[in-house]
Amino acid sequence: MPAKKNPKKTVIKKDEKYVDGPRKMKAKGLQLLKGMKDVLPQDQRYWQFIFKACRRISNSHCFDWIETPILESTNLFIRTTGKDSDIIKKEMFSFTDQGGENISLRPEMTPGIARAYVEHGMINLPQPVKIFSYGPVFRHDKPQAGRYRQFSQLDFEILGDGAPAVDAELISMSYFILHDVGLETNVHVNSIGCPACRPQYRRLLVDYFRSKRKNLCEDCKERLNKNPMRILDCKEEACQEIGGEAPQTVDYLCDDCKTHFMKVLEHLDEADIPYTLDPKIVRGLDYYTKTTFEIFLVQKGEEKTGRQTALAAGGRYDGLIEQLGGRAETPACGFAVGVERIMLALKETEADVPPLKQADIFLAQLGVSARKQAVRLLEELREEGYHIKANLVKDSLSAQLGFANKLGVKITLILGQKEVLDKTILVRDMDTGSQEIVDINKLIPDLNKRLKKIEESII
Ligand SMILES: [Zn+2]
Ligand SMILES: [Zn+2]
Repeated sequence: MPAKKNPKKTVIKKDEKYVDGPRKMKAKGLQLLKGMKDVLPQDQRYWQFIFKACRRISNSHCFDWIETPILESTNLFIRTTGKDSDIIKKEMFSFTDQGGENISLRPEMTPGIARAYVEHGMINLPQPVKIFSYGPVFRHDKPQAGRYRQFSQLDFEILGDGAPAVDAELISMSYFILHDVGLETNVHVNSIGCPACRPQYRRLLVDYFRSKRKNLCEDCKERLNKNPMRILDCKEEACQEIGGEAPQTVDYLCDDCKTHFMKVLEHLDEADIPYTLDPKIVRGLDYYTKTTFEIFLVQKGEEKTGRQTALAAGGRYDGLIEQLGGRAETPACGFAVGVERIMLALKETEADVPPLKQADIFLAQLGVSARKQAVRLLEELREEGYHIKANLVKDSLSAQLGFANKLGVKITLILGQKEVLDKTILVRDMDTGSQEIVDINKLIPDLNKRLKKIEESII
């Protein structure tokens, strides 16, 4: 077969099922935008599974829910995420709205949450304030496996407490969310210091990288002046090699940062969280101070530390609240987990993800009076908590039974004219095909008895 001229173009055969990507739309300009993704019903069980794990952990750690807008002032992100960060320079979806305001789709959640904390005077609440949020974030990034331009994050923040135990609590929460969905992971942790100790380290780092400048990639040559720490997590091989020999932040921490970091590690040891000290975890955003961490998938004993596979990431940001006009020295720390990346990891590792709750019962009906009664019966069964499907359009019984078969329900109820008159209903066991006439007034206890064995493990 001759080599394809453009390997990026996927030819979709006519008979190919819609599995890995959408087909080309016939009319131009109507298709999904590049880097975007529809979340289809077949992936719902993964999403539900991940949310459930996050909900369980946020409840047990007493986090309150918050939702901030997807759109914020562009200035908010420039002031917080940092004007020299890759996110602000290259990846933000920014535009001027009809009122002439410069606004952006949020590229991350922390700035909006920190703004809300200041704007609503949450400093006056008992501290710390523990909040979590869920929603889409947007980055105009190069589309790759598991990375989209709109992706979903679950975000956890603890504001108003500077204790190392807070950093450890958040690291442990993110680790256990991933553990609970069945993923083996390892935490990479680092401390990037504070405004007291970082300038000295930064100078050393710039001196070091300057001496190696000609071997750095073009991006890193630019980072050298504006964001030199970011060179440490460049994925180019040459930069990684140079970065491996660079001075490490942990060797230049001030006493306060050093003690803080040691205590975080002690807490992680006590909690038996597997971690690796990793000087490359610098996060690249202006607001981080002290602890930074990323969590990577361990698959078949091997760690996947490529840029795409950090499943959760976060750190401390003690200066951010003050920067937004909040009370001076308000400490804060947080992390976010990427839903799409976790979903990809669950698929790759063939994790045991329970199916969604399906219909237990199908209700079939024949004739006008049966149809009328079926509508009422449906409501009664729903009130009883059953997941029930019915087709009130089709008249043919065989068509309705065929539909019930496709759904894989355990029981089909059949209501015809005769049953309406007799005040009975036919209960059909779909596995054996056996049918029984049941008094309509005894239907609920009868169903309760038949369906009590349905597995608890189903979501
Ligand atoms: Zn320091
Ligand atoms: Zn580089």
